[in-house]
Amino acid sequence: MDSSHSPVKALGKVFLVGAGPGDPDLLTVKAHRLISRAAMILHDDLVPSTILSLAAPGAEVISVGKRYGAKGATQAEINERMIAAARRGLEVVRLKGGDPGIFGRLAEEIDALEAAGIPFEIVPGVTAGIAAAASLGVSLTDRRKAARVIVVTNHQAHSAAQPESADWRGLIREDATLVIYMPGHDFGALRAQLLAAGCPLDMPAAIVSRASAPDERHAFTTTGELDKLPHLDSPAVLLIGRSLDCAHTRADSATALAFREADLMLSSL
Ligand code: SAH
Repeated sequence: MDSSHSPVKALGKVFLVGAGPGDPDLLTVKAHRLISRAAMILHDDLVPSTILSLAAPGAEVISVGKRYGAKGATQAEINERMIAAARRGLEVVRLKGGDPGIFGRLAEEIDALEAAGIPFEIVPGVTAGIAAAASLGVSLTDRRKAARVIVVTNHQAHSAAQPESADWRGLIREDATLVIYMPGHDFGALRAQLLAAGCPLDMPAAIVSRASAPDERHAFTTTGELDKLPHLDSPAVLLIGRSLDCAHTRADSATALAFREADLMLSSL
């Protein structure tokens, strides 16, 4: 029998894809390929237009972001949409900033897809904290200074798994690099919590805003002076630990080098 006349449509598939921190050059080859051939892309707010523009002509590109107080889709609506499209036989890319598994509600979406019997695949991406470390020229696990990386969020509304601003006491260690997603803007409160948990005053800290984007910004301080950090645009990630020791001088020399290169270019015109 000719299967094209079959009333039973083959199931599509949902790819849960990490878009990386923003720079399209940091997409994986696989993410790029999937984005450029998907029939439908459901994306978060963090995914920039330079990446969405890689979609095929005619693809449905739908924002399902929940940020900035906008009336984004609920998690249930996103799940329903993915499932309905896959049941229509479509290949769907669910595109999330950074890595889909890092503070990306990946587990809820997997549960929903599994319960509906929809095939899916996870495609990892470069997470913001890793991109930030690269921009600062540091290794989060510099073995002379750090034996572990602890990834947390300061976004308290987040979950039962991390109640009341987390118990920082369990997280503060001389040999750890803390990577704090959604650090908020109240660095005075965060400073108080970190110090109360035993963090030394001189522990280096750095904030990186829009890591990997052309308008990336960063600033350096210590935990003792965390409240003096400038207000940088979202999204931003805060890094704390001895592995950040040299970040300040490295970033300064990288900036100086960039200025020198720009000068050279101008003088050669
Ligand atoms: N899945 C994402 C994180 C989503 S939570 C990832 O793996 O990167 C959203 C938070 O991620 C933001 O509040 C911010 O803390 C961080 N973030 C995402 N993109 C960022 C970027 N380009 N620069 C700095 N922080 C970023």
